[in-house]
Amino acid sequence: MTLALHGGTPVRATPWPSWPPPLDDAQRELAGKVLESGRWGATQGGGVTDDLAAAFAARSAAPYAVAVGNATLGLFAALRGLGVGPGDEVIVPAYTFVASATAVLLAGAVPVIADVDPADLRLSPDAVRAALTGRTAAVMPVHLAGGPADMDPLNALAERHALAVVEDAAQAHGAEYRGRPVGGLGHAGVYSFQASKAMTAGEGGMIVCRDEPAYEAIWSVCNLGRRLGGQWYGHPNVGWNLRLTDLQAALLLPWLDRLDDEIARREAFCAALERELGRLPEAAGTRPVTVVPRAPGTTRDSRHLLMLRVNAPVDRDFLLAAMAAEGVPLDAGYPPLGTMDALTRAGARAEPCPAAEAAARSVVWVRQSMLMDEPARAADVAEALAKVLAA
Ligand SMILES: *Cc1c(COP(=O)(O)O)cnc(C)c1O
Repeated sequence: MTLALHGGTPVRATPWPSWPPPLDDAQRELAGKVLESGRWGATQGGGVTDDLAAAFAARSAAPYAVAVGNATLGLFAALRGLGVGPGDEVIVPAYTFVASATAVLLAGAVPVIADVDPADLRLSPDAVRAALTGRTAAVMPVHLAGGPADMDPLNALAERHALAVVEDAAQAHGAEYRGRPVGGLGHAGVYSFQASKAMTAGEGGMIVCRDEPAYEAIWSVCNLGRRLGGQWYGHPNVGWNLRLTDLQAALLLPWLDRLDDEIARREAFCAALERELGRLPEAAGTRPVTVVPRAPGTTRDSRHLLMLRVNAPVDRDFLLAAMAAEGVPLDAGYPPLGTMDALTRAGARAEPCPAAEAAARSVVWVRQSMLMDEPARAADVAEALAKVLAA
């Protein structure tokens, strides 16, 4: 079996499903209606953005929601609406997308980069405890890859130290923690509709939140400092136009009806892949590749991505190149935020993050589009891994 990299036959020759999936009839119909109406903006009263916000609030078990242009701005608006700003510190995990930290910078606060749990790779409550200072104002757990962070200990810490909790749920539409949807577990939660996410309109975001004063403040941040129900040219606060459009909302609202089916599909693929990986021969008492486990309390992982830990000693660049040549392109994942010079130059502070550094070396991701394939095709991933690791 010659590696495809060296001219052999690739394990997988047919393409994986593309992302996003094809438009469905409901999307086509609603988007067509909005397009024809000329009411493309959320301030023109078409109502689709309001319907989407209401649907997200309901699904997040949070009473309020504000639609925004993207999740980076959503995290910023949530922080600012909750009163976080200059002089404050916000604890973010080291293994996440850079926007979790740059949203903090946008709010004028200092991102404090804390380590993740070495097993599940979500924000470690112990690391948060160690990173607390008198200036800590908020903590931002990230529901990474669709798997909730362990919220109970984080919420308990936040309550003890009077911190705001902003959930970065950009990757976790439909995920649940101890039977409750993410987003409504902290003071605010933020979803993304960027092109790679589990629901997308190309770009977009949604902030959900629990109490009315926070909602009014966040809404005002996203609507040029207006007061909810107040005058159009009255601006009692400083704010910006961070709104989503009704055209985007028209692609997203019908998607909520098929989100559960898509999660179930990805879950079936992940379960099949985990079984296949369990059959790979052990070396020195460990499986060569294992699935990164869920954090405690996870009752529903929305499987945005599947994170795999490569235990076998293999050069990562070789692994990624050889897997791509076999027709199974995997992603390298995040560099630890603390290693990004731009963030430290901008004032971010990094705590020691050995678990995130280990993850950056040994964890690879299976893409969402691949997880949407038939579960039987999980065998392609396992077979390609076995072939590449045996080379
Ligand atoms: C995608 C993503 C964001 C940013 O979302 P945008 O809508 O692209 O701004 C923030 N945090 C995480 C964890 C993400 O994956």
